Amino acid sequence: MRVRVLGSAAGGGFPQWNCSCAGCTAARDGSATPRTQSSIAVTADDDRWFLVNASPDVRQQMTACPGLHPRDGRATPLGAILLTDAEIDHTLGLMLLREGRGVTVHATAATEATLRRGTGFLTTLERYCPVEVVPVEPGVPHALTADLSYTAIDLPTGKEPRFAEVGSADDPGRVVGYRFHDRRTGGTVVYAPGVADFAPLLDACDGASCLLVDGTTFHDDELVRLGLGTKTARDMGHVSLDGPGGTLERLATLPVERRVLVHINNSNPILLEDSPERAVVEKAGVEIGTDELEIEA
Ligand SMILES: [Zn+2]
Repeated sequence: MRVRVLGSAAGGGFPQWNCSCAGCTAARDGSATPRTQSSIAVTADDDRWFLVNASPDVRQQMTACPGLHPRDGRATPLGAILLTDAEIDHTLGLMLLREGRGVTVHATAATEATLRRGTGFLTTLERYCPVEVVPVEPGVPHALTADLSYTAIDLPTGKEPRFAEVGSADDPGRVVGYRFHDRRTGGTVVYAPGVADFAPLLDACDGASCLLVDGTTFHDDELVRLGLGTKTARDMGHVSLDGPGGTLERLATLPVERRVLVHINNSNPILLEDSPERAVVEKAGVEIGTDELEIEA
C-alpha cells in the first residue's frame, strides 16, 4: 500500500491565520515549511484512494496529489473518507466534496451523531449530494478493496464533548485510529492522529512497519507557556511528546520500525528547524512528518 501524508499540521494549520508565535512567523517568512491540516490518503492499487479525514485544506491537498486527480470528466479515484472523530479540522473538508456524484463516509456511531446533531455537517452535505455512511466498529476488520482492509482502534480521550447534548465523554468510538493492512504485500500501517492513552495502540501496532502518530505538542502546557491558550495537551485529548509517560517515551517501547509524527500543532517547537526540541525528537529516532511524505508498506 501507499500512504501519503496530505497534511501534517494539527487544526489551524501552519501558520495559523491568527497566530504570531515563533513557529507561525517562521512559516510566513519562509524559514519554516508551511503545513496543511491533518489528513492522509491510502491506496493499495494506485487506482482507488481512501482519505482518512477531510481537512479544510482538502482541495489544495488533492491538487498536490496526482493520484487523486480526476479522470474521464468528473470521475474521481476517491473511494471513501474514513473519519477518526468529528473534529472540525478533520471533517470540514466534507463540505468541499459536495460537488461529487456522492460521498461515502466511514464513521463510528459517536462521530456520526456529532456530524448530524452537533456540527450538522452530514445533514448539510446530504442536501448537496448523496451521502452513504458506513458504520465503523472498532476491532472489526473491514475490507475496502480486494487487498486493502482496515481495523479501527478505539482511543478513548475522556475529554468532555463540545456537543454535550449529543454524547458523553465515555461513549466508545468518539476517537479512533486505523490499522491498515494490504493482503498482497503483507504490509501494515497504523494512523493515530489523536492519542490520549497509548495502551490501546500496543496491540494495534503489532506487526506494523510504520506508525503515524499524534505529535500535537512537545510540552503538555505549551499553549499556556506561550500565552496562546489556557488548555494543556491533555485537556485537548493529546499526550505531549516530552516528559514522563510522554509520546517519545511510549514510542521507544513500541515494536514499530518507523515512527512518524503527524497532527503537529503550530505551537510545537519541533517545527522550528534549529530548535533543541527538534533535536530531541530526531535523537529518539522519531521522524517529523511533512506534507506529501509517502510511505510504502
Ligand atoms: Zn502559532
